Amino acid sequence: TLANADLRALIADVPDHPKPGVVFKDITPLLASPRGYAACVDALVAAAPSGIDAVCGMEARGFLFGAPVALALGAAFVPVRKPGKLPRAVVETSFELEYSSETLAVHADAIAPGARVLIVDDVLATGGTVVATAELVRRLGGELAGVAVVMELAFLQPRALLSRHGVDDVAALL
Ligand code: 5GP
Repeated sequence: TLANADLRALIADVPDHPKPGVVFKDITPLLASPRGYAACVDALVAAAPSGIDAVCGMEARGFLFGAPVALALGAAFVPVRKPGKLPRAVVETSFELEYSSETLAVHADAIAPGARVLIVDDVLATGGTVVATAELVRRLGGELAGVAVVMELAFLQPRALLSRHGVDDVAALL
């Protein structure tokens, strides 16, 4: 596996994207490194609580980490999507995030009542996306077992928001 410094070097800072004053963390160099990508997935799997039944990944970059983590854990992968994408009955929730307002949707039957669910994403910024996904998990009757992300932008203090919403088991690799 790779040291954290090596993983960090595979995430590029892009100033003023998607708007002036924001430094966007670009994970595409990480995806382009088979060793780095594999090390990230392995570390997310290692950080997962035990007995996970389902992994929620949020469109779109959450898919890139959530799906391989779900496979490695032998858990279901549940895509959490932008509205209008999922073909069957959905549950939706709306929230404010760093740049805009957003709605997320999940199939209404995607999580069995009582299932232990792990939320996986690339970057934890304000925490709004994770809070919204946690809300969807609860509304479907799932038990939120934890959150695992590649990178946390601690200066945005996402853990304070998550804690106010009862989400306290959060693992960030970087
Ligand atoms: P939050 O809801 O925590 O403010 O934002 C997190 C969501 O927005 C994640 O789904 C993440 O993919 C995306 N996001 C926000 N900022 C960044 C960033 O700097 N880099 C990347 N790759 N994604 C970001």
